[in-house]
Amino acid sequence: MAQKTPSGSQTALREANRALLFETVRKFGGLTQIELSEATGLSTATVSNLVRQFVEEDVFDTRSTIRSGRRATLVTLRRQLGISIGVFIGKRELAICVMDFSRTILSSHTLPLALDHKVDSTIERAILLIEETITTLGAALNEVVGICLCVEAPVNKITQQVAIPGILRGWENKELRAPFSSVFNVPVYVQNSAHMGGLAEARLGSAKGVENFIYVHASDGVGAGAFVNGALLRGVTGLAGEIGHVQVDPLGPICSCGNRGCLNTTVNEARLVSLLNVTHGTMTLDDLITMANDGDPGCRRIVTDVSVRIAEVTAQLCIALDPKMVVVGGKFAETGDLFIEPFQESLCRLLFPDAMTPIDVRRAQFPDGQQAVGSALFALEKSSLSAGTALPEHAGVPQQSTSAPTKEH
Ligand SMILES: [Zn+2]
Repeated sequence: MAQKTPSGSQTALREANRALLFETVRKFGGLTQIELSEATGLSTATVSNLVRQFVEEDVFDTRSTIRSGRRATLVTLRRQLGISIGVFIGKRELAICVMDFSRTILSSHTLPLALDHKVDSTIERAILLIEETITTLGAALNEVVGICLCVEAPVNKITQQVAIPGILRGWENKELRAPFSSVFNVPVYVQNSAHMGGLAEARLGSAKGVENFIYVHASDGVGAGAFVNGALLRGVTGLAGEIGHVQVDPLGPICSCGNRGCLNTTVNEARLVSLLNVTHGTMTLDDLITMANDGDPGCRRIVTDVSVRIAEVTAQLCIALDPKMVVVGGKFAETGDLFIEPFQESLCRLLFPDAMTPIDVRRAQFPDGQQAVGSALFALEKSSLSAGTALPEHAGVPQQSTSAPTKEH
């Protein structure tokens, strides 16, 4: 085995320690130097040296705090210009993401919600979670520059309310911004969650640098966000990309939107798990995905069938928009090639056989919670637009470089 020079191995070790320390601060938010030493296994002297270096490089901030009655040094990521908050509210889930102007995700959390959760109590939980997270990060409320809430339902872009009754039951035509703005006193935006999933992929994920692409969110229900010439296509009312409500069966069951036989009546948790009732008993979509990944043939069959169904509808959107790439996110994307391969195959079969450039299909880079990441990005970009400031280059880890703020059609 080749012997490395002492200086080479020392440099490599130092870089590994730096990366470990950075990741630990990023993951946990604010930690004292002693906690950092415990969490990383590095000596307190090494932690102290590396922290000093990161502070000189404008990556970390330090401040005095009290832990167990003793004075300690709290280490946090430097928040340039402020922080933004992304909130995702779905049928069964609440997620938040806190991001700074370097587009570093400072913190993200997901909480389960009861089916048919209520507007007031859910927003109250979201606000509490934001306040707790900001405190944990050692930040102040006045550092928040904007909040973007995205919901798993069509959003009217004029009223910023859930547009179609029945899809997120009880949330339609409710004022969603006021509870947040009264607590945080910052601009609050309401967006569709598939659009925000697309934004996360456009800025930090699989479609980074791609001007024309379609993001498809495949979970309990399907949504899409189309990017045309670098801009999110929202349409006149904000409902562009609602492919879950394309009719696939004229005689099919009634959809939550009131129409008949929409794609969402096919790609629906209750329906999909009911197909496995006889062989698998009672289960959830999460169980189905886990078992498909573990090789269960029945669950794998459901995933490939769903993949083909969604691809058939996505193909129509591709013919209309001629994108370079389709990025697939949501729970079904967690099955990887099991979903992606039949999806790409179906798209290729349905698009022009002699296409000049075959369509590129990628799995979303962001796991669950990417809608909250996209929302945080949206609030950040709106804020930097209004302040007339460009987003700075990322300071700590290699991520998205500065790009044009979100344009909206
Ligand atoms: Zn529908």
